[in-house]
Amino acid sequence: MRGASLLVRFAVVSLVLVVLLGVLMAKLLASMIAARGLQSATDAAVLTTTIAVQPLLTPDDLTRQLPADKVAALDRVVQGSRAGAEIARIKIWNGDELLYSADPHTRTPARTGAGPSDELADALAGEIEAEVISDSSEPDNAALIDRYGTLLEVYVPILYDGEARPAGVFELYLPYQPVQASIRADTTRTAALLVLGLVVLWLGLFRVVATASRRLRVESSRNEHQARHDALTGLANRAHLDVALSAATGGSGSSSVALVLLDLDRFREVNDTLGHGCGDEVVLEMAQRLTRLAGPHDLVARLGADEFAVLLPDVDGVQAALLHAEALRSALRAPVRVGGVDVVLDARAGVSMHPLDAEDGPALLRHADVAAEQAKRTHVGVCAYDGALDRHSTERLGLLADLARAIAEGELVLHYQPKCDLSGRVLGVEALVRWAHPQRGLLPPAEFVQFAERTGLVHPLTESVLDQALAQVRGWMDDGRELPVAVNISTRSLLQPGFAERVLTVLGTHGVPARLLALEITETTIMEDPDRALVVLTQLADAGIRLSIDDFGTGYSSLAYLKVLPVHELKIDRVFVAALTTSERDRVIVDSTIALGARLGLDVVAEGVEDEPTLSELAALGCQQAQGYYFSRPVPAEMLRLEGSDRVS
Ligand code: C2E
Ligand code: MG
Ligand code: MG
Repeated sequence: MRGASLLVRFAVVSLVLVVLLGVLMAKLLASMIAARGLQSATDAAVLTTTIAVQPLLTPDDLTRQLPADKVAALDRVVQGSRAGAEIARIKIWNGDELLYSADPHTRTPARTGAGPSDELADALAGEIEAEVISDSSEPDNAALIDRYGTLLEVYVPILYDGEARPAGVFELYLPYQPVQASIRADTTRTAALLVLGLVVLWLGLFRVVATASRRLRVESSRNEHQARHDALTGLANRAHLDVALSAATGGSGSSSVALVLLDLDRFREVNDTLGHGCGDEVVLEMAQRLTRLAGPHDLVARLGADEFAVLLPDVDGVQAALLHAEALRSALRAPVRVGGVDVVLDARAGVSMHPLDAEDGPALLRHADVAAEQAKRTHVGVCAYDGALDRHSTERLGLLADLARAIAEGELVLHYQPKCDLSGRVLGVEALVRWAHPQRGLLPPAEFVQFAERTGLVHPLTESVLDQALAQVRGWMDDGRELPVAVNISTRSLLQPGFAERVLTVLGTHGVPARLLALEITETTIMEDPDRALVVLTQLADAGIRLSIDDFGTGYSSLAYLKVLPVHELKIDRVFVAALTTSERDRVIVDSTIALGARLGLDVVAEGVEDEPTLSELAALGCQQAQGYYFSRPVPAEMLRLEGSDRVS
């Protein structure tokens, strides 16, 4: 529309300019044609006098009254003039004195006429003067004008060879109408050509601009579409959703607006295992399912790789919105056939309502996001926004934002939990990190370690823990006690380039032998990138550091890897140990792990031993090391009871 009106504007403006140009050129040409017409008529008059009249007279004739034979000769010439070179009147002047005057059409040459004029004076000075006369009020000319209409009056100086000044002047009247007619004809023809040329020019210009403008319009509407839509699915994108959200929440209507955010679970795995092509197919299929379920006023948008939003601008309360969200979620959970396999993905949905939960679009989106997050955390399919939970999560976010400072300022402290043989003798300790928060007290690792892993903060965290743990071992060494310490290492730290070197540096800094350090790694960490893990673990083991697989049995491990990895110890996860005496299944798991460890030559440690019956059962199964509240909770170093541990004599 805007493009079209621009085109109209161009058409009008260019037309006005072309018309202006046309008028200007027409005027210029007309005046040129008129000047040329006048000039050629004047030239004709000069020619007539110099060829036909002047030879009849000698310079002497002009000094006195013309003799009768000369007058007769002149009369013959004048009367003999014919159409085309017709003479209407001729006068011959000698200075101010009129020597001869004749009007041939009367056939009775007059010897009298009007007196001298300015033009005559100029002609006597040598100038050729010409003027067009059409004024019939002058009595001398009235009869001539009546007969011929417009006249051209030309004064031609009579010059003889060798004379500097004219001997006299011919004053010639010629009918000017034929000249005017030819000027008019020329002007009309030129104007017609000019108009034709300009029309063609304008049409050509218009065509070029119209084509360009049409292309521009198509291009700009395509750009506009791209700016507001997802390239893969053609669904609305976030920018489009933002606009729709502010429109939906901006009105004062009484109905509710709901925003449903849908997140596909494990979509990355589809991409990783089946390839991005299949991932795209899945997304396309999901987009179509959501679109099929959308009402005429609903808006379906794609916000991220596996994140969709559905805006319901007119919904009948929270329950209706939740039902709709459940239907959308079910649609996403139906199998999708790609790459020859049926892929089943779970989805989580978060629902937020306007005006109930949020006043404006951005808040509605944020709250739907919080609800979706809540659905993910609690493993519930669809969650409605809950303000109370949100406040909690906001506080938590604030807390975590403070973690970098806390690490830098030494708020992380270590508690130590002994690892014992079944008689209770301390064989070593595990260092477990806590955040000594100035306001909130001692925070357990569950509150911040995962967050640190998701951000880069896990690196300074690991360094701080290693440094404190080895400083503690050094302290014990200085007290004459060699007590190995185990430090938990997260995936990102282990796989960080230069990790092994850094550990060795810290050992060196504190002067602690590598055999007094154990690193606990989970199966998941190893399986995330087994090849790299193998390289790093080999480096560490070669340096003499002990390696332990933590939480064994909860992740997925490959027995093949277990065989090649240079590990020294398996720690059976406490979920199996806790149920050892009550669940036959868990007993079998613990039993097999102990047997596996023995076969592979690994130490096996049972985690989370809380009571005597569990300990007895472990002993019966042949387990030799344990850790748990039964022996000691994790405590600050100074509270550890280390009576049974090795002393260096
Ligand atoms: P983990 O390495 O498996 O540590 C053992 C956890 O079990 C500790 O929890 C410990 O307090 C708890 N525990 C020990 N004995 C018993 C028992 O008899 N009964 C019960 N119910 N629990 C027992 P904590 O200290 O909360 O640590 C939790 C996890 O946080 C650790 O699990 C470890 O994965 C991680 N973590 C702790 N410190 C660090 C650290 O410095 N770096 C990293 N990356 N992770 C750490
Ligand atoms: Mg551990
Ligand atoms: Mg563990």
